[in-house]
Amino acid sequence: MDMQKEFEGLAASPGIAFGHAWVFEAPSLEINHNPIESSQIEEQKQALHEAQKKVDSYLKEIYQSVLKKQGEEEAEIFEGHMELLWDEDLIEEVHSLIEDEKQSAEAAIFNYLNEVIDDMSSLEDAYMRERAAEFKDLQKNIILALNGKPFNVMGDVPEASILFAEDLTPTDTAQLDLGKVRGFVLEKGGATSHVAILARNLELPAVMGINKLFDYIENEQNVLIDGGEGRLVIEPSEKVVQAYKDKLNQQIEKKAYHDTLRKEKAMTTDNEHIALFSNIGSTEDTGLIDKFGSEGIGLFRSEFLFMESTRAPSEQAQYNAYRHVVQHLDGKPVILRLLDIGGDKPLSYMNFPKEENPFLGWRGIRIYKENYELFITQIRAALRASAHGDLRIMIPMIINVDELKWVKDEVEKQAESLKAEGIDVNSDMQVGVMIETPAAALIANQLAKVADFFSIGTNDLTQYTLAIDRGNTKISSLYDSLHPAVLHLMKMTCDAAQKHNIEVGLCGELGGDVSATPLLVGLGFDEISISGSLLPAVKAKILTLNKQECTHLVEQAITLDNADQVRKLMAK
Ligand code: PEP
Ligand code: MG
Repeated sequence: MDMQKEFEGLAASPGIAFGHAWVFEAPSLEINHNPIESSQIEEQKQALHEAQKKVDSYLKEIYQSVLKKQGEEEAEIFEGHMELLWDEDLIEEVHSLIEDEKQSAEAAIFNYLNEVIDDMSSLEDAYMRERAAEFKDLQKNIILALNGKPFNVMGDVPEASILFAEDLTPTDTAQLDLGKVRGFVLEKGGATSHVAILARNLELPAVMGINKLFDYIENEQNVLIDGGEGRLVIEPSEKVVQAYKDKLNQQIEKKAYHDTLRKEKAMTTDNEHIALFSNIGSTEDTGLIDKFGSEGIGLFRSEFLFMESTRAPSEQAQYNAYRHVVQHLDGKPVILRLLDIGGDKPLSYMNFPKEENPFLGWRGIRIYKENYELFITQIRAALRASAHGDLRIMIPMIINVDELKWVKDEVEKQAESLKAEGIDVNSDMQVGVMIETPAAALIANQLAKVADFFSIGTNDLTQYTLAIDRGNTKISSLYDSLHPAVLHLMKMTCDAAQKHNIEVGLCGELGGDVSATPLLVGLGFDEISISGSLLPAVKAKILTLNKQECTHLVEQAITLDNADQVRKLMAK
């Protein structure tokens, strides 16, 4: 009998699954790296064009089938691929590699897209980095077409399979019979990759980032995965299987309880309502809203739209995306965060200076004046979408009142100009401020006089307050948003909002941390916006809390010495 082997990976989608391993091997791509003759240039360009047409009709086919099986949000990815496929810059660059450098069509497409992929893969921001996967997917399909190979490479997945792969692209997963898949294990990928989002939406467990996975796994082996813990067990022992079965039963019970709460509002025992919203990164994620019964979108990170393409999305493309989300929300609030790019999150089509301290650098609101067209295009798209529901915008990285006033003036000017063009807008579209720098929290009283609302970004607020780079694993044990210093700044912000009668929300990862929920209730947040599937647990917690008691808890917590003491207090 085989020996049990255990692995730790990334917890990409929660849940426990048992099944048989099914190992997917990506097709090999044939690329001719030898220089071509001048006489072959036209023929290679023609071959590329034919391949693009084949990929185009394949993508249309997938779009239709995914639309039917998984809905519009998931299908939209493939519209994005079709746009990339016919991107003018792409075609121009690849033609010039064929003409000037005498590269074969496969080599040209391979080399050009590799450069784009490398640029994106080197970014520090995980979300941005994983958008490179879209380009990789397209690269694979164009080369398969040039090789004259079939696109459908997935084959028939047996029932009750746990799918093992190095990585899975959107077109790979689109070929899957998801009814037969119980979970995913990937060597690559991360929590914000497409497969991770898909898995979470489908409630299939997923574990990612397991090094040298294929040295250990073989087809048909018995495996168990715990996506909440990021654990993979190959050939688990009887005892381990039993332990996980018990854990699974507990989770099923808890989930059944959470499901009963879906339509309920989060009310404290003394009848205070706290609106629970969701964070989204793409139009794909709107499925979460229905699934978890959230009351709005508290953070729509607009960056992804800008990363998916080789140039800035047009006003119309942005309008379409924002309107789609707003209409899906059907009157519930959607808070669109203006482009938060720069520093550690550059855009391939924009010039960013190399910076010593990118997190303290040219990012967020700081880039708008010099990139006025980019900024105004987003404002116009947002204003147009605001006519279809309750769209609000918020500004990242604010440190003073003038920045906010400038944005508000620009919004007003654009609203007037759109109306003069006969275009519908909401002239009272709310403009809020992200409180994510200590400066903003400390002048919250001044900001509150001008802002329509606040939303505390605890991810950055913690980073800047504690002087801890949020991506630096060496010091990550010191990074805790429950540090009393951060709590102080949150309290100042909430107090200022209440004094000036504006709403205050929270949109950092702290929102999904149930041990922090009593403090957030005590601080008086009107709204908490939460990532992924953590919302029901927060709701269940709020239903047990008394707001008055929570307020006292905050008073105590801010006098403590450090985050550990705060966590101990919460555990009591
Ligand atoms: C934050 O800083 O808390 C936040 C929500 O924004 P981001 O994580 O995108 O910087
Ligand atoms: Mg931030």
